[in-house]
Amino acid sequence: MRTSALRDAGIHPKLAVVIAGEDPASLAYLRNLTRAGARTGVEVAVDRLSERATAGEIRTRLQELGADSSVHGVMLQQPLPDHLAIREIAEAIAVDKDVDGSNPINQGHLAFGGGRAEFVPATPLAVMLLLERSPHWPLRGRRAAMVGRSSVVGIPAAILMLSANAAVTILHSKSGDLEPYLQTSEVVVAAAGVPGLIRGSQLMPGATVIDVGTTPVDGELKGDVDFDSAVTVVGAITPVPGGVGPVTIVALLRNVVQSAEGSGASQR
Ligand code: NAP
Repeated sequence: MRTSALRDAGIHPKLAVVIAGEDPASLAYLRNLTRAGARTGVEVAVDRLSERATAGEIRTRLQELGADSSVHGVMLQQPLPDHLAIREIAEAIAVDKDVDGSNPINQGHLAFGGGRAEFVPATPLAVMLLLERSPHWPLRGRRAAMVGRSSVVGIPAAILMLSANAAVTILHSKSGDLEPYLQTSEVVVAAAGVPGLIRGSQLMPGATVIDVGTTPVDGELKGDVDFDSAVTVVGAITPVPGGVGPVTIVALLRNVVQSAEGSGASQR
């Protein structure tokens, strides 16, 4: 295992996560991430800041973690509380430890490097890992709809699908009726955070659907796709929970190990 080889070399892979506030879906995700890290030999240290933390306080904490040589990956958990904007903060994450690809420099490399960057954001990377195992892989020439245009999921996932030569349409809250786009899309990736936004009747028969949405509803996580109506129409679909989330964790831990391996090389 890569983490055993690192430990043999005296390197203990460590991810530091900063979270402001108590978003329940984020806290559930971080619990799963910490457990998966413990199983695979990556320490996950979660730094919890108040819901009212300022952009300056979060930036300072991220910079301290970036300067800590025992830390190989630094991540800021999103979504942020409403008073904060990711743009003001993400550039404080050290580029060479930005394992979730949030720093605008890494985002720029992703956009202008044909989908290549030091670190590809974990959730979009998970989307691609799932698509690679779908009936619609390779994506070359496929019609793909990306529902959502956030900097953390929608835009990077669209760039990655574009880099894999899909014909990508990016949809958002001002797109109007989604159905005409969805009905002609062989691949649909949903990251809107609106439970049940997409129903089976709107989808193309046989489509591949990746549901990134995870919204807590009455104590349960719900996806953006109404699974029961979609599963009878589509060819492949990821469930919520248990679909994109666990693969995102694998993608993120892989990026931390990659960073730790790089730190070993630079020490030699
Ligand atoms: P976000 O920043 O709130 O972005 C949501 C996007 O969806 C926006 O671009 C928004 O459009 C669009 N949207 C909202 N309502 C829509 C509608 N009715 N029709 C079409 N588009 C609509 O959210 P995010 O951070 O990207 O996260 C999206 C979802 O993925 C959330 O449920 C989140 O919890 C989940 N998530 C899951 C993972 C995982 O590992 N499974 C990781 C990250 C996020 P506008 O731009 O026009 O506002």
